[in-house]
Amino acid sequence: MDARGLAEQLRPVLGDEAVITDHQRLRTYECDGLAHYKVTPALVVLPETTEQVAAVVRACSRAGVPFVARGSGTGLSGGALPHADGVLIVTSRMRSILDLDVASQRAVVEPGVINLQLTREALPHGYYYAPDPSSQQVCSIGGNVAENSGGAHCLKYGFTTNHVTGVELVTPAGEVVQIGGKAPDAPGYDLLGAIVGSEGTLGIATRATVRLTRSPESVSTLLAAFPDTDRAGAAVSAIIGAGVIPAAIEMMDALAIEAAEAAVHCNYPAGAGAVLIVELDGPAAEVEHQFDEVEQFCRGNGSFEIRIAVDDAERALFWKGRKSAFAAVGRISPDYIVQDGVIPRTALPEVLRRIAGISAEKGVRVANVFHAGDGNLHPLVLFDDAVPGESERAEEVSGAILDLCIEYGGSITGEHGVGADKARYMPRMFDEDDLDTMQLVRCAFDPDSISNPGKVFPTPRLCGERPGRHQGAHPLAEAGVADVF
Ligand SMILES: Cc1cc2nc3c(=O)[nH]c(=O)nc-3n(C[C@H](O)[C@H](O)[C@H](O)COP(=O)(O)OP(=O)(O)OC[C@H]3O[C@@H](n4cnc5c(N)ncnc54)[C@H](O)[C@@H]3O)c2cc1C
Repeated sequence: MDARGLAEQLRPVLGDEAVITDHQRLRTYECDGLAHYKVTPALVVLPETTEQVAAVVRACSRAGVPFVARGSGTGLSGGALPHADGVLIVTSRMRSILDLDVASQRAVVEPGVINLQLTREALPHGYYYAPDPSSQQVCSIGGNVAENSGGAHCLKYGFTTNHVTGVELVTPAGEVVQIGGKAPDAPGYDLLGAIVGSEGTLGIATRATVRLTRSPESVSTLLAAFPDTDRAGAAVSAIIGAGVIPAAIEMMDALAIEAAEAAVHCNYPAGAGAVLIVELDGPAAEVEHQFDEVEQFCRGNGSFEIRIAVDDAERALFWKGRKSAFAAVGRISPDYIVQDGVIPRTALPEVLRRIAGISAEKGVRVANVFHAGDGNLHPLVLFDDAVPGESERAEEVSGAILDLCIEYGGSITGEHGVGADKARYMPRMFDEDDLDTMQLVRCAFDPDSISNPGKVFPTPRLCGERPGRHQGAHPLAEAGVADVF
């Protein structure tokens, strides 16, 4: 049976309204935040309960039909890109916060819960949910778990993986399993660690148990303007090298500032070649002391103007420029690629110089916005699709930036995931043996390769196939430490 055939089987389980087969309505789901990949799914379902998700997955498993999970569809790597012959399982009707357990500092949520929704619910109790992707007003906790999402404040508080203590998972066979819970850790293999960041390839999370973080007593934010990114980068290294861990340190270069000014009039200091936004939080006395240190490090490294937010409104204005930066680039370029890579923080000035060199050589403008504290770059590669050859050149520059990240010991993705888009870059970072070993993990969960197939790994393989270039047995199988499924 194909995916369309499953529709009639699923209507009595989910209700007519929750099973979409109309072509126009299906097209609503043809892409995620990476809009240049588009695939219309064969079928979309909108389950409301774990049991409904499990029923859909079991039906897919029996029929050998692939399925893809989708939260809010804000992903930037094509992770929720549908499968043309598959079922798209959308969690937007699963938006309940099931348990706000302040005493245990935990919340249990359904996967479609919006990131900021959880913080809003927790704030009156003096708590919040710390991982804060810039998309937090719309992205779902299920998507965050699948992508191991980060955000500006993850430098101090850690990524999603540091905030998830349990997951209810519908496995690709349609079983419902509980992994972890409210306790901080569980004995045995770290299956939770494997699931967080697995981009929907190991099953569908139908509940997540997450940490709630105490709201800080005090927050202070400064905006420092520098003549160039070299000096801003040096200030970042000086701050962190001195043992100060700000809640966030974000950097924008001149082109990114120009875009933000055009879009949201954030009124950053004129003539800045780079700005840093540094936020400190914690006990008031500690914040005050460290804030002085940060200010000195900025001045000592050439900052020519420092502004300190006097209230929440001014803090919001500082952040407005940064948080709008991706979309703002649309004001100065008809098209752009949002790249996401990681380098060691200390290599920032050198890598930025090399990015500028690549940009000049190829004649492609690159605006840089990034989480400077943890070396997570977001170069925005600008182009005009209407001009022949520009999109290809932009792709080349984008790929060359990832090569730089690898060369400097970093990674091809910091937080946006591999998805459909970066699967082709995986062999640049990992050799065949690494990829084969990852495939063993995937096949242990999904032997029929039906859970978000074609994502993350460069060459789709069925689990029974001997993968890669190997003529003989897989080295791990030869060594007797793993089986090929
Ligand atoms: C303007 C903008 C700013 C952004 N800023 C950031 C940022 O600062 N940091 C950051 O990390 N990301 C950022 N992102 C990327 C994106 O918002 C995150 O990756 C987010 O976690 C995706 O959530 P989603 O609900 O939209 O997931 P989707 O896009 O719907 O799905 C993402 C992936 O998760 C899988 N998935 C979704 N739900 C489930 C589930 N319940 N179980 C299993 N798999 C599932 C999908 O199959 C897919 O592979 C940004 C995106 C935009 C558009």
